[in-house]
Amino acid sequence: MRMTVIGTGYLGATHAVAMAELGHEVLGVDVDRAKIDTLSAGRVPFHEPGLPELLRTHVASGAVRFTTSYEEAGAFGDVHFVGVGTPQKRTGHAADMTYVDAAVEQIARAADHDCVIAGKSTVPVGSAARLQEAARAASRPGVTVDLAWNPEFLREGHAVEDTLRPDRMVLGVEHDAAARPTAGGRRAEAALREAYAQQLAADTPFIVTDYETAELVKVAANSFLATKISFINALSEITEVVGGDIRTLADAIGLDERIGRKFLNAGVGFGGGCLPKDIRALRARASELGLDQSLRFLAEVDDINLRRREHTVQLAVAECGGSVHGAQIAVLGAAFKPDSDDVRDSPALDIAARLHSMGADVRLYDPQANANAAQRYPRLDYVESLDAAVAGAQVTLLLTEWREFRDMDPRRVAGLVATPTMIDGRNVLDPAVWQGAGWRYLALGRHTV
Ligand code: NAD
Repeated sequence: MRMTVIGTGYLGATHAVAMAELGHEVLGVDVDRAKIDTLSAGRVPFHEPGLPELLRTHVASGAVRFTTSYEEAGAFGDVHFVGVGTPQKRTGHAADMTYVDAAVEQIARAADHDCVIAGKSTVPVGSAARLQEAARAASRPGVTVDLAWNPEFLREGHAVEDTLRPDRMVLGVEHDAAARPTAGGRRAEAALREAYAQQLAADTPFIVTDYETAELVKVAANSFLATKISFINALSEITEVVGGDIRTLADAIGLDERIGRKFLNAGVGFGGGCLPKDIRALRARASELGLDQSLRFLAEVDDINLRRREHTVQLAVAECGGSVHGAQIAVLGAAFKPDSDDVRDSPALDIAARLHSMGADVRLYDPQANANAAQRYPRLDYVESLDAAVAGAQVTLLLTEWREFRDMDPRRVAGLVATPTMIDGRNVLDPAVWQGAGWRYLALGRHTV
């Protein structure tokens, strides 16, 4: 099939390359000329394991190309995936839909033949129905544009595998007043079944539903995950006071298969370009719908999450004797999670910036995210190695659980720091091993030291 992917960021670039890998002819579209030039040259403008190799292969074969031209896209594609950003609005908690609105309208106007627009961005419930109307209004006479919503569940760091072999796919299509798919809805479903034929042949669950359910599946999944993390982090506030061990608690409740152990890791909390903004946007949307109470608990989920950051800052302050002013502090990690260079709403970077604003001399090292972090907070001291970060440090904070940090040798690193004090913000180091190597070891939710 001939398809375009509009928006070539983390989601879109991965989706474009994955569609080429599935045998389609793909055109990636973005308004960012520099990004398009980089991708056209076969280089991925962000860190995503496995993506550079696949991109090079498919750029070389011509299976995937990139452009800034909507005209070219409208002439080329039979299916147009839309994966542009939906960040939090500057003025509140709701999602900023200006990029999605612009992309859908532009491609609907540019399409010179019948086509399907498949939205992949995470959007407030009600958007797809509105955008189908907007696409119809913008389309050329005689050209039919059907719109579907196909939310994306990929995880950064596993994006290629998640796109090629997702655990489920969800498709929302237009329904009529009697809750039956419209003719356009059926056309959109048929086109997406063809696009995903390989995944469907591999028995990937494919849930076809109405727009509203499909839109809500995405934000519901992220809200549930965020709630799990904040649940265990709220309990870690208790274990810190009473002296329990949050990891053992998580292991014990996680063995109940109704609960499950995943996403029950206590620490500095969640961040990134999705979870924080998605829970805020869902709550904002519920309020717009007059349902202020329904998801009020998500505000608490957000608060618990942000409290962990402040608590970690206060741990460092206490370890420095009541003030970090002038203290040399090593921060390991800036990305919101390992195997990614994404620093959007990153707990690690937030904590580092707060310590810096309190007068600490922060040396930060991230294996991949230094450059992105430096764009956001230019005033921190970014160094190029773990050793350079910890050299002479009074306190060391592990804030992103990269393999390089998990595998640190405590005896070797103890020889580099000024004071062997480790604050393990991700609960990934073995306390006994670190204490045995002479470290004062502190972690969130555990009585250690
Ligand atoms: P991103 O910021 O990395 O990429 C967005 C891209 O869209 C940018 O390259 C930008 O230049 C481009 N763009 C903006 N306006 C455009 C326009 N009118 N036409 C063409 N291109 C335009 O964002 P992302 O992380 O890829 O997220 C995109 C969407 O996918 C968001 O809704 C996000 O919530 C959702 N999502 C992201 C992930 C993830 O892990 N990153 C996972 C699932 C869903």
